[in-house]
Amino acid sequence: MTSEEFCLSDADVQPPMILKNHNSAALFCAILKKKYVQGGVVMRCVFCNEPAGFLKSYHDACYQKVQALLNKMEKIVNEYNQETIHVADAKKELISIALSSELYQNYVRYEIFNITAIRTNETIVYVESGLNISESKNRCRMVETGYRYEKKPVWTETDNLIGSNVSVAMTDKSVYLLIQGKAMMYPYGKIVNLGYDEKCGYAYFDVKTASPYPHRFSISSLNRKDKNKAGNVCLFLKCLMGY
Ligand SMILES: [Zn+2]
Repeated sequence: MTSEEFCLSDADVQPPMILKNHNSAALFCAILKKKYVQGGVVMRCVFCNEPAGFLKSYHDACYQKVQALLNKMEKIVNEYNQETIHVADAKKELISIALSSELYQNYVRYEIFNITAIRTNETIVYVESGLNISESKNRCRMVETGYRYEKKPVWTETDNLIGSNVSVAMTDKSVYLLIQGKAMMYPYGKIVNLGYDEKCGYAYFDVKTASPYPHRFSISSLNRKDKNKAGNVCLFLKCLMGY
């Protein structure tokens, strides 16, 4: 940040004592105006990282450019799903679109709050945020059979919500579940099954484990009306994995 700009500090946001009188609002505006004239309350655009203007977090033009790239990507994953494009070409195109624009790379980095979780030799292709993630695990318990007092394994399934309002990032090599404070990474080679439950609106993928039963992650949208998110996760995963 240069000396020309500043962010709203707590002192600016919380009205000082003087704001108790009826001129307070005008004064507060004047304080802001003065600072605006001096350089302004300028936030940086999440896409291009240039000053975005008074109380704005992005430029409309940058937003539209990134949206156009997302539309292009969505078209490719749909083509792959309809088998009108070969998987190798589809994946290559997705990666090249992701790398074609610095605005896009800044956007995915902005969406991933713990960027250090992503391996540096991987290319981030797509991020979906505002998701809930559940984990189903089969746990083994040894029980006596009664007859000869032998022990045999019994599997019970547990289903836990492991993250709310979290992001899923997909690179050229792996999928990352970015849950507050931790990131879980699964290389595509470890994923044995995936799909989308249209009726319930969630995507899922199964990870290979040592137990005879897979370990399942279910991904749904935080906002139930927004079912596209889970569908998108499934389509992008399919295409990047060549499933
Ligand atoms: Zn911008």
